[in-house]
Amino acid sequence: MAKTDPPFTHDYLEHLQRNADTLRARAGAGPDGPLDAFALAAVFGARIEYLPVEVDPSDFSGMVITRGGRPVIVLNRSMSPERRNITLLEELCHLHYGHPVEEWDGQGRQHTNAVESEAYQTGAAALLPAVVVAKAVYKNRGAADVAREYGVSMELFEMRVKVLGLWRHYQGRNAA
Ligand SMILES: [Zn+2]
Repeated sequence: MAKTDPPFTHDYLEHLQRNADTLRARAGAGPDGPLDAFALAAVFGARIEYLPVEVDPSDFSGMVITRGGRPVIVLNRSMSPERRNITLLEELCHLHYGHPVEEWDGQGRQHTNAVESEAYQTGAAALLPAVVVAKAVYKNRGAADVAREYGVSMELFEMRVKVLGLWRHYQGRNAA
């Protein structure tokens, strides 16, 4: 299972949104407002660090490690703010679910696809709750506007539209 491949079962979508809503509540985000990824990191007591060297974001986005019993999230500073937000959320979701701490070795991060998908999709659901995506689609809000308001890329917004089974409606609406 790739990180972004729908379809997911109804139960799995509920699982994702339930956990995403728990995280949103912990960060003091309302049911449908933007989520501040850095505020959520602070709730976890996570320290944010940036790679000291320039690395292509396609090679490395982020990882979570533990130092002195405290989580440290290492991010690539070359990422866009939108990419940084979802990366930070993904790493916080690994902590939330208690996924094993990632090890950095020659092959990169060692996670199963299922764990990667759970963390990434929960992070996406926290940044863009189902209710926000559905409202945007049915009220014909511009995707770029919604993406900007919620600190995500257009690609992430459209991924959520697909995951939530609203893609045909979304496309029909654009053609109208
Ligand atoms: Zn991950």
